[in-house]
Amino acid sequence: MADFLSAKEIFDWQPYNLPGNSAAQMARARQRMIDQGQWHDGQILGRRGAVGCVSLEITQRCNLDCTYCYLSETSEALKDIPLEEVFRRIDLIRTHYGENTDVQISGGDPTVRKREELAAIVRYARASGLRPSLFTNGIRASRELLSQLCDAGLIDVAFHVDLTQERKGYTTERSLNAVRKEYVDRARGLPLSVFFNTTVYPGNFHEVPELVQFFVAHSDVVRLCSFQVGADTGRGLERERVTVNPYTVMQAIQMGAGCALNFGAVSAGHARCNRVAYGLVINGKVFDFLADGESAGKVIANTAHVVFDRQDKAKTVWRMTRAIAARPDLAAGFLHRAVSFAWKAGADLIAARGRIGKLTFFIHNFMDADRLERERCEACSFMVMTPDGPMSMCVHNAKRDRYLLVAAQVKRGDKTVYWNPVTGQTQEHRPGHLDVSLSRKNARGRAKKFVEPVRIAGEAGQSRAKSADAAEDTL
Ligand code: SF4
Repeated sequence: MADFLSAKEIFDWQPYNLPGNSAAQMARARQRMIDQGQWHDGQILGRRGAVGCVSLEITQRCNLDCTYCYLSETSEALKDIPLEEVFRRIDLIRTHYGENTDVQISGGDPTVRKREELAAIVRYARASGLRPSLFTNGIRASRELLSQLCDAGLIDVAFHVDLTQERKGYTTERSLNAVRKEYVDRARGLPLSVFFNTTVYPGNFHEVPELVQFFVAHSDVVRLCSFQVGADTGRGLERERVTVNPYTVMQAIQMGAGCALNFGAVSAGHARCNRVAYGLVINGKVFDFLADGESAGKVIANTAHVVFDRQDKAKTVWRMTRAIAARPDLAAGFLHRAVSFAWKAGADLIAARGRIGKLTFFIHNFMDADRLERERCEACSFMVMTPDGPMSMCVHNAKRDRYLLVAAQVKRGDKTVYWNPVTGQTQEHRPGHLDVSLSRKNARGRAKKFVEPVRIAGEAGQSRAKSADAAEDTL
């Protein structure tokens, strides 16, 4: 029986603000995995990195309103945090987790921020030795913008496309493949790893196999497809998840891939949070790269020092080959498996003229805000950078306003001033209580129903008044 955090424990949960360097963080991550029974040869957390990735929310605004949105009802009413504060948080990521940490530049949708500011953020993250990824719904991610961000040092782009976004004119995931295809074409040929994010819920679960087939067919550009199980958190309206869980999603992915995939060989944190499998795509067919889980675990345990370069596949393969060749015990087993794989996939390898694509299948299982499992929060691999340090994304989602409705301390010349997220203005003294007023223009998700007039014949005036009162009570 899972042990859930109480409302008070969620309220009291603090961001990590730990002294030490990235080596100390790595040791802490390993200890957390050991403490939660998640340490094994294929465990990446605490071995390859001290964290899976860190989300850097550079705006709370978005040009969509997803039905499973994790943002706060107040988000749209808030101004974008100043660049100085974004840079300070990048510095915090660097000091906490060290070089080569993956940073998700997200929001809201980061592309609604001024273009030159977005480019400056990417440039600063890369210059700090981090690996910046753009997490976007893609609407404003034109080829021109992506090229500009590549020049600034962007490494990955992750497009979120699915039915929960209620894009006009699209009623099935199949119809949304036209949007995905357009995004694939925008990114094709740029030095970027391309990911796709899909929220899975009862309304689109039956389409997961066909979606997987789309990603396989475009694996010349798409490197990773991530499926997130819809959770009861944030401002979103949808709450249903009964039939959808990581296990049913794993089955649906394998159905689409047309082969069994080993989702247990490699872990990136807690097994109830993340599941990952790697497919090799040859002649349009998927082969399980980690079918032999035991050997895969041994390779992972002994090659943690090898730095992966997602922009240069050949370099990564070469580095791994050298590391394996340096260990005769690994090399013998690896060679044996390579030969039997070539035998199994021989006809397809010939038909594909030796071209092999790689597609990662990832499942992320966010928790409902009122059912946070202690063990998973303590083993969390996905942090968001708050003003006070990194914090588990699930815990953060359960109390977002606590970190959004605070003034940021910023330096202007030799003066320290306070930036107010509601007005976007700086002031000399730290503001006390911050009030947000929602209107029909800035209310999103669940808050919309409090500010929209309720159309009941003969009672319209009265209902409007009630709506306004309810909105105030809620906030
Ligand atoms: S954000 Fe939540 S689901 Fe994701 S790794 Fe952390 S605790 Fe697990």
